[in-house]
Amino acid sequence: GVCVQSLESAFSWSDLKPNADGLVPVIVQDYQTKQVLMLAYMNEEAFHQTLMTGRMTYFSRSRQQLWLKGETSGHYQFVRQISLDCDNDTLLAKVQQVGAACHTGNKSCFYRDVVAQQSSYRSTETVLEDVMNVIQDRKQNPKEGSYTNYLFDKGIDKILKKLGEEATEIIIAAKNPNPEEIKYEISDFLYHMMVLMAERGVSWEDIAEELSHR
Ligand code: AMP
Ligand code: ZN
Ligand code: ZN
Ligand code: ZN
Repeated sequence: GVCVQSLESAFSWSDLKPNADGLVPVIVQDYQTKQVLMLAYMNEEAFHQTLMTGRMTYFSRSRQQLWLKGETSGHYQFVRQISLDCDNDTLLAKVQQVGAACHTGNKSCFYRDVVAQQSSYRSTETVLEDVMNVIQDRKQNPKEGSYTNYLFDKGIDKILKKLGEEATEIIIAAKNPNPEEIKYEISDFLYHMMVLMAERGVSWEDIAEELSHR
């Protein structure tokens, strides 16, 4: 029948180099967090369906049939970007994931570590955003004995006074060539700065947006 492709695409299936089974692996990533969600395969029809519908459609190797991701679970994946690798044999899809990508209920299929040399590693952005989320949560749901709530209750002048003090402490710590102390003072400063951001309704996203076009 007539194939009306709804997504504009710079490449067609004939540009791709499928494996011996006629399949191309697709690495699937959350378009916002960049978390790797899963790996699946497309055949020609799955590729076309994906471009026509804007929903990730694969070829299920276990069921040997076309597989619209989310068809039974409701956990659809909406296409944000699809890229082709250097030698045309692998696709990278950035998607808006509804619910969990994995049928186990985990957000990502890669929830089990084989090697974890840096088990506690979190990206800088993640840590800053996590701290910010806790601060926002304290503002919405005050917690007994919380220092953050103490600052919010005291108000803007108290927050600004603390921020000024912490900035001064960074300057004093910086006189010492040993970086240990400055690390603590910058952490203190950033925390108080995030309390100020929460108080005035500024998000890390706002800062990133501003800095990115300077
Ligand atoms: P869904 O496409 O999410 O409705 O899931 C339908 C079926 O596809 C599930 O019952 C699983 O067998 C399989 N499935 C779903 N998600 C994955 C995944 N990320 N990796 C492997 N198989 C999956
Ligand atoms: Zn390459
Ligand atoms: Zn390749
Ligand atoms: Zn899975």
